[in-house]
Amino acid sequence: MELDPTRMCALLVGLPDVFIVAVDAGLTGPIRVHVETTATVAFCAGCGSRAWSKDRPVVELVDLACFGRPARLVWRKRRWRCPNSWCRVGSWTEDAPGIAPARLAMTDRAGRWVTAQVGRCARSVNEIAVELGCDWHTINDAVIAYGTALVDDPARIGEVTALGLDEVLFARLGRWRTQHWSTQLVDVRRGQLLDVVPGRNAAGPCAWLAERGMQISLGPVIRMVTHLDVNRDDMAAFADAVAAFFHEHPAAVSRAAAHA
Ligand SMILES: [Zn+2]
Repeated sequence: MELDPTRMCALLVGLPDVFIVAVDAGLTGPIRVHVETTATVAFCAGCGSRAWSKDRPVVELVDLACFGRPARLVWRKRRWRCPNSWCRVGSWTEDAPGIAPARLAMTDRAGRWVTAQVGRCARSVNEIAVELGCDWHTINDAVIAYGTALVDDPARIGEVTALGLDEVLFARLGRWRTQHWSTQLVDVRRGQLLDVVPGRNAAGPCAWLAERGMQISLGPVIRMVTHLDVNRDDMAAFADAVAAFFHEHPAAVSRAAAHA
């Protein structure tokens, strides 16, 4: 059990290598925790000289809600300067990815959490923005930044043995509210959405299959599912449709088979 007040505060904030310099808990709005890193020396990446501390720009980051209340981490960053006028490095601002990625207005832990909430728990960006008391774009930017790496990970697709294709109306756009369709690709055995491609013709899924030929093993049970409550008779019709689908696009099949 920790009894030292400074350590107790640090444990509650839960960030490595920071000092808590102030807490601003006004009656309304988010609670603001002001921090600095514990770094006291830095060396120039160009010439190796010990840097001078220049000034402290302040960045305010959206953080996880604290005891049911929106929170901000106010980071007084150190700005360093190389003492040598001939050195090309000049000045730089400290970076601590464990606190926050360089270009996001959100802490690293909050960015991971909001991505899981939207991606795994299917909560809306707006719902999370209300919970953390911040702008919609702040949440969306974080979900894109963290989520892109997860979506691009080849392990996410894995080995698919039963692929479901489902056409879904994506949006109605323009003056005439023109329908824009998408095709959802689903791993039927795992019950997991793999991807969404534009259009509802064969081109999108074919390109997707060709691109990921190595992950589609030979002899997959390919099913085209247009409704979740599909019955057995429909499945026979779908099987014919799938056969026609690949007959039209032999290139996608041969590429997939070649890598199986
Ligand atoms: Zn230097």
